[in-house]
Amino acid sequence: MTTIAGLAVARGYAAGPVFVYRGDGEIPIPEYSVAPGGENGELLRFRRALGDVKRDIGNLISALKVRGGDADVRVFECHAMLAEDPTMIEECERYIAGDRVNAELAVRRTARNARAKFERMNDEYFRERVRDLDDVERRLLKALTGFSNEAAFALKTPSIVVADDLTPSETVRLPRELVLGFAMNGGSTTSHVALLARALGIPAVSGLGDITARVKPGETILLDGTNGAVTLNPDADAEREFACLIARQRKLVADASANIPAGTLKNGEPGVLIYANYHPGIPMTAIREFGARGIGLYRSEYLWIGGDREPTEEEQFEAYREAAKFTAGLPGAATVTIRMLDIGGDKLLRGISTTEANPFLGNRSVRFLLSHRDVLRTQLRAVLRASAYGRIYMMYPMVSCVEELRECAVELAEARRSLDAEGIPYDAGMKVGIMIEVPSAALNAEVFAKYVDFFSIGTNDLVQYTMAADRGNDAVAHLYQPLNPAVVKLVRMSVDAAKRNGIKVGICGESAADPIVGVYWAALGVDMLSMSANSIPIVAGLLSRLTRADLDEYLKVPESMDERASADEILQACHMWMAAKIPDFDSIVI
Ligand code: PEP
Ligand code: MG
Repeated sequence: MTTIAGLAVARGYAAGPVFVYRGDGEIPIPEYSVAPGGENGELLRFRRALGDVKRDIGNLISALKVRGGDADVRVFECHAMLAEDPTMIEECERYIAGDRVNAELAVRRTARNARAKFERMNDEYFRERVRDLDDVERRLLKALTGFSNEAAFALKTPSIVVADDLTPSETVRLPRELVLGFAMNGGSTTSHVALLARALGIPAVSGLGDITARVKPGETILLDGTNGAVTLNPDADAEREFACLIARQRKLVADASANIPAGTLKNGEPGVLIYANYHPGIPMTAIREFGARGIGLYRSEYLWIGGDREPTEEEQFEAYREAAKFTAGLPGAATVTIRMLDIGGDKLLRGISTTEANPFLGNRSVRFLLSHRDVLRTQLRAVLRASAYGRIYMMYPMVSCVEELRECAVELAEARRSLDAEGIPYDAGMKVGIMIEVPSAALNAEVFAKYVDFFSIGTNDLVQYTMAADRGNDAVAHLYQPLNPAVVKLVRMSVDAAKRNGIKVGICGESAADPIVGVYWAALGVDMLSMSANSIPIVAGLLSRLTRADLDEYLKVPESMDERASADEILQACHMWMAAKIPDFDSIVI
């Protein structure tokens, strides 16, 4: 029995057979001659892909070093060396510049030559390097083609999916009902596969180094998404213990969702409203099952990511209307907040290549919409039309300055006018808000509050941009600190500005689902927390055991500490307070 430690990305326990997702088989590549004069463009494409691959391998090595996995580090250092091998790079570039073949073909020919050379050597060490070479070739071809393999999704029985890493679109293409858990070599707690796993209620562990190479398809493993560990070759005792944990987890969720009116404090005092974050493509019933008040974040970009082309106005309208009708059927004055297309950064559209050197700081989200007005106009019309069928709120992602909002307001007015002209109904009072996920928006929240009806603070990105720490990079996961005083200051500024201006404010980043941090945001006075549906019973359960006076006391925990305290020390102090107030805290936070 071996236990491998990783990052806990989605809580819960799973036991079951392994399904290795590798996108196996040879990656199909285009083969063509580059037109005379096009060599430089092709060389640039090759170098960019090589840069991406080297960066990915480098990140993996740093993460492994932090954990002290010497043997694994050596494997990936070897991959890094191969990716930097001057002879092979020169050979590839000769194929491109001299023979004028496309970058993919150049990579394949170079890898084939090197493989033949390694195989001819009568030496075990070099024969082993063939596997490494295959790996680097696959990484390069994937970077160049964006390839993923359909057959690789053919899950037949309930299994734990073991993968290098999964993109959001790969994750949503796996049959949800057959996925017991995710175990991944790379990734981090806020990567999109992590968010999806939490939204789906599937336990997940990432940052496991080379788990794909250490498991065999079909063998049973145990996955602990709460503590971040995977056990290979478990003995009978470990399997029995997991069976108990899984049964207890099912019971806790069932009890919590049946008994707790989400977000109410102890003795029925009003607390915060708890909503679910939702990805189109996932059954909406989970939202009702876990007791959400509505949908606080409808990630509309998944209508684009999940499909193979841009959704039409009609298709979008149908999807938004379904959400509006569904929430209208929930108890209370339920709402659905549709976030406008949040594309770019780590969420990429098929067919739109990323030539930006720094996509996280690039033409993404509302910036993309404003530079693709046809996309913006179509989506605005679809959202407005759906607003006639339920209580829809709409918000813009990644707003960083007021000019963006002014331009969006012009387009919204135009969309309303066009619907009026066609006699199509919509809710003229539809609330319009923005996400606060860039420090400039938080710092200038007082002004933004004059423009909109509500704020929704996206801590996933707000933490990333405040700490300058890529949310998907496990090498900097330790800097990803929602309770860092700098982040808390920005959240507080946004909440205070909203209150002063009489508008609503909520948190829709994943930190809302963290029992320690989410309750802290509630204490800070937000009106709403929106989170992955599977976390609702835990956070709502905790709130139902605290009074407003408790929350006021909790808020003072970081304030009463030395101002030089680190985020980790603050987190620990909050944990201690919680464990003292709720004696079974550590056992209920599964
Ligand atoms: C956020 O940034 O906190 C957020 C909710 O948006 P996303 O995770 O989709 O970027
Ligand atoms: Mg975001």
